[in-house]
Amino acid sequence: MRVLLRDGPGDGQVVDGHGETAVWGACLYERTGDREERHGRTLPVFRHRPDCCELYGRGAEDRCE
Ligand SMILES: [Zn+2]
Repeated sequence: MRVLLRDGPGDGQVVDGHGETAVWGACLYERTGDREERHGRTLPVFRHRPDCCELYGRGAEDRCE
């Protein structure tokens, strides 16, 4: 299943997601229930988990480790 990522290092990327979560690099994204049009297809939106990067005081520009 293709999903659209929101926020964090993977913002705007379309990746494969499975179930309730998707992974971008070392970042974790979770299902929101929203849907968005992208390239003529309606994709479920997955949002960057708030406790993924920000917990360590890093901005959205940085990658998680
Ligand atoms: Zn992250």
